[in-house]
Amino acid sequence: MKVLVTVKRVIDANVKVRVKADQKGIETQNVKMAMNPFDEIGVEEAIRLKEKGVASEVVAVAVGVEKTQETLRTALAMGADRAIHVLSETELEPLGVAKALKAVVDAEAPGLVILGKQAIDDDCSQTGQMLAALLAWPQGTFASKLEIGEGEIEVTREVDNGLETVMLKMPAVITTDLRLNEPRYASLPNIMKAKKKPMEKKTLVDLGVDPAPRLVVLKVEEPPKREAGVKVTDAGELVEKLRSEAKVI
Ligand code: AMP
Repeated sequence: MKVLVTVKRVIDANVKVRVKADQKGIETQNVKMAMNPFDEIGVEEAIRLKEKGVASEVVAVAVGVEKTQETLRTALAMGADRAIHVLSETELEPLGVAKALKAVVDAEAPGLVILGKQAIDDDCSQTGQMLAALLAWPQGTFASKLEIGEGEIEVTREVDNGLETVMLKMPAVITTDLRLNEPRYASLPNIMKAKKKPMEKKTLVDLGVDPAPRLVVLKVEEPPKREAGVKVTDAGELVEKLRSEAKVI
């Protein structure tokens, strides 16, 4: 079974994000970029499936600017077998990405597609669901455990009130949650080996995807600054302040 895993290039999770002066987006020039953390979990899961002998090939796919190839190289260094880069000079919305991924899935025919549950830049949490809908495939979102059976997959999902277990017929779409696994670091020898692994390049035109946005960003703002707290001397003062100043009791 072939496993397709998607990787998005996003601002590194440790970087403090700055809003652009025109408030139309965030500053990405000269900012450290990295693989979306939920996609690292996706790549790790796909590689583990290969190590267990369940998957025969792991293909990493990314949609984005030229430099997205660096993110794909990281996936290859972690252990993916080959990569597909869909070039897009503009930032696509989840529907555009899902359409591009659908075209790749149609051509590659994987048994499983693993995406992150959300990209930490747009926090949309839509692409996996949209892809499953476009393919008319079952979806197991926010997965914290996968068990592959004969033509089906048992997915444990993290839901608000606990864990939900669903059984899906394959091919299926999975999105990863934080507790699915702990992704590995790529070793130096594997980073070197990854340079030689195949990377196919496609364009949105090749895939018949219209990149025109359907949403308009009105404004991006930083969250309001938190005010400094006050230290109280004892519980009595705390209760008094909660009653008379905060008026919450
Ligand atoms: P989102 O719906 O934007 O929160 O993204 C959810 C997941 O979809 C991400 O974790 C990625 O696995 C995948 N995804 C979104 N955008 C891209 C992209 N441009 N290239 C590859 N994968 C993507």
